[in-house]
Amino acid sequence: MVRWARIRRVRLILLSAVLVGGAVASAQPSRQTTVDSAAWFGLALPPPAADTAAVKVGARPPRPTEPGSATELNGANIKRDVETIVGFARESRASKEIGNGQMWGRVAGFPSGDRTVDWALDQFRKAGLADVRRQSIEQDQKSSLWLPLSWRVTLVGDPAFGAGSHDVILESALPVGPSNIPRGTLTAPLVYVGTASPAVLQHIDVKGKIAVQLVVPQGHMLFERGAVDSRAEDLVKRGAIGVFNLIRLPGNELSRDFSDCGNPCFNIGGRDGWFLEQVLDRASRGALDVKARIELQTQVFRGLKATNGVAVIPGKSTEAIVLNAHVDGWFDGAGDNGDGLAVLVALARHFAKPENRPQRTLVFVASAGHHTPGINGPRASVAANPELAKNAVMLINIEHVAQRNFSPARTTSSDGYREAVADSGEAPIAVGVTNNSPFLQELIDSGPARFGVNFISERSTFQSGETGGWAGLSVAKISVMQAPPLYHTTGEVLDVISTPGLERIARFLAFLVAAADKAPRERINP
Ligand SMILES: [Zn+2]
Repeated sequence: MVRWARIRRVRLILLSAVLVGGAVASAQPSRQTTVDSAAWFGLALPPPAADTAAVKVGARPPRPTEPGSATELNGANIKRDVETIVGFARESRASKEIGNGQMWGRVAGFPSGDRTVDWALDQFRKAGLADVRRQSIEQDQKSSLWLPLSWRVTLVGDPAFGAGSHDVILESALPVGPSNIPRGTLTAPLVYVGTASPAVLQHIDVKGKIAVQLVVPQGHMLFERGAVDSRAEDLVKRGAIGVFNLIRLPGNELSRDFSDCGNPCFNIGGRDGWFLEQVLDRASRGALDVKARIELQTQVFRGLKATNGVAVIPGKSTEAIVLNAHVDGWFDGAGDNGDGLAVLVALARHFAKPENRPQRTLVFVASAGHHTPGINGPRASVAANPELAKNAVMLINIEHVAQRNFSPARTTSSDGYREAVADSGEAPIAVGVTNNSPFLQELIDSGPARFGVNFISERSTFQSGETGGWAGLSVAKISVMQAPPLYHTTGEVLDVISTPGLERIARFLAFLVAAADKAPRERINP
């Protein structure tokens, strides 16, 4: 190895970054300095979390749309609204809405959620919609929202790992709910358990250790929930006193997903996990123990109040088509659900124009969302607007609709971790029609050819969690939804939202609503 390759950035922990007054004193207790060392087995240290984008976006733009959209459906205009919506999340971070600001978002039950709803209502008002209303929601008394206020996961340095092996903070670590550490801090040796299947675990003693399991999501983390949660539970049953889920996704992102996976349990981002795996490999050669120190302060929130925003474009008929997008999201949430909400607002502007006025009444709902337990925007909307269940002929839920697709890159980061790069289209969109109406399915089938939307090739009757809240409407319910791997992570930023993609889906949905508006009720609900 050439000598310069061993010159690496090493983070030195400031001594002041200790627990003060029961809370982790600083979110960024480390500083960077360049040293020449054989520390940490000579491995490249992981980068600060979200230091570089999870997905590289090159200079080549995504495929353009066909010209001819009305201004309200123009991608660049919709993108500006996504930016505004992301701004409410950024504000939540800057104002330290949650604890010390390590966790942020547009959170139902917090000012960030309400502010986003108020913005949507303001847009509805400006577009000339009628009956613009703010409807409040009280959190179900039996439910609570667990949130981490401050935390830190540190790999404990040891000269046995090489001279100068100082503590390393895994900045992408994020506790999984409802993790808790009674005295706020815990130090224990780590044990690597791979995929933590029973066949592996029969050979490994995890007692008194923090088990480190590898999670390689095939799509988004949703698909891994069952396996991760049950395996983590099994690890705790076998005596593990904590679990780390190494989430092998692009970049070094914080991810808010999984639950009840052992106490305490943390998700660790891609490059931190990559580093940790290599450390554990090297340590195993010398039969060395690697220890981690966890500090964690949490809070359980009850009695929260949130808001739905509702507005109407009255038609000649009282029969209604309901359009819904949830406003809540973790971190920046540009794709979950900044893009969906911006498209909802664009459609309100579109159908409010005299030349696009529908026959049926259109009801627009900026829903408080479904991320906060005990708060469900759609359910509250059905309860607060009993006439909806009577009048609705169809519901469309617009959720995660314009993130760019990405692929593993040909390049790797300086630490050898594979990079990811955006391509020229959007991530696949699944469209579910709960009643499998052939009329609606045919309209959806025509989407890719007519509007260039990247719908998956299979018809489906699936519904998303947000759509599930609309169970009170016994009509066709359409969920339009991407399942991009970075959702619920800090990697879901404005940069990965496709501007033409916003226009494609907005134009398709305008077409779908107009076609359904003209169709008799029996064709929509055969
Ligand atoms: Zn969502």
